[in-house]
Amino acid sequence: MLSKARLLQKQMSEWRREIHSHPELSFAEFRTAETITSIMKKMGYRVRTGVGKTGVVAELGEGKPVVAIRADMDALPIKEANKVPYKSKNKGVMHACGHDVHVAIALGTAKLLKDEQFTGTIRFLFQPAEEAEDEEGFSGAQRMIQDGAIQDVDYALALHTNASLPTGQIEIATDFASAGADTFYAKIIGKGGHGSTPHKVVDPIFISGHIILALHGIVSRRLRPFDSAVISIGSIHGGQVDNVIPEFVDLSGTIRFLNPEVQEHIHTEIQNIMEITKAMGGDYELILQKGYPPMHNNEEIVALLNDVAGNIVGKQNVSVPDVEMGAEDFGYFLEKSKGAMFMLGCEIEGDTRRHHDPKFDVDENCMPIGAAIFAQAALRMLNHKEA
Ligand SMILES: [Zn+2]
Ligand SMILES: [Zn+2]
Repeated sequence: MLSKARLLQKQMSEWRREIHSHPELSFAEFRTAETITSIMKKMGYRVRTGVGKTGVVAELGEGKPVVAIRADMDALPIKEANKVPYKSKNKGVMHACGHDVHVAIALGTAKLLKDEQFTGTIRFLFQPAEEAEDEEGFSGAQRMIQDGAIQDVDYALALHTNASLPTGQIEIATDFASAGADTFYAKIIGKGGHGSTPHKVVDPIFISGHIILALHGIVSRRLRPFDSAVISIGSIHGGQVDNVIPEFVDLSGTIRFLNPEVQEHIHTEIQNIMEITKAMGGDYELILQKGYPPMHNNEEIVALLNDVAGNIVGKQNVSVPDVEMGAEDFGYFLEKSKGAMFMLGCEIEGDTRRHHDPKFDVDENCMPIGAAIFAQAALRMLNHKEA
């Protein structure tokens, strides 16, 4: 399969560069969706567009099992700093997370699979908006699920490029592949006045100091030692000038967790901590907003992927990554069907790039490897229902 995929390297490169030079933001992937639609139709896939706003679903085959391969399509509000021929033509927008590569790999996989014999259905999910949610708080995966994209799906696969993992190496998490991510917004309300008379007002900046310390104490003092979580305050705003005590302070932050019980526990603790404001004469408003769920790779699918990837790149090049608390909305698909995501090494040798950085880029030699693993894994699932 890898040698077949290598024959598509040039083609995948062209697709990737075409998409890379025309990046589009979350839920605005119109041109990208059109490009994908015309390529998939030419290959003979049945295509449904406008799924989850700008998403594209493309199918081949009939009946069960249904195997889904997901590729996210959106870019980021970043100005590209690379001087490459395929540099972004959309000012201030850039494929800095590798989603252009994910699309090209999925297209390559579609091309490999269309010439294979299998029973069941292969369904490609070209997903909008992995990086951002819409005004109602839904991400691309959620919108696609609402539009029936995951209906009847038995197994779902996805990959993410990893620009600091050498090309030819694969990482497959055995259990948690990414964390759940919630957001909190807190307004600490005091009573403003002159900086010289703090005893006559309620100082929300002073109260914020206590809140900040208490929030940082949740993970170390209130959770069990083996519960994994992160709480980071990412913004704090209050006051304008040196001698005025302001009316309020705004705080916001991110909560990362692996288990729903820990999530609930943290929400309760934050709620309790905000009561400090009242003890100190102030008040508060708090919004706890649920975000992406933790992503849970399925054991059977992990075993299958380990086997397939081992055959393609060699067992010594397949490893288990350290659990990190990043978040991915593929977790929504894995709440509905068995599946897994793996990390595809795409490091430029001697010139490591970072995701979400203006100089992000990949070693395109990773693409045939990703396509070969997808295609081989999908065929195993399509031919053996029990996977
Ligand atoms: Zn990203
Ligand atoms: Zn990404």
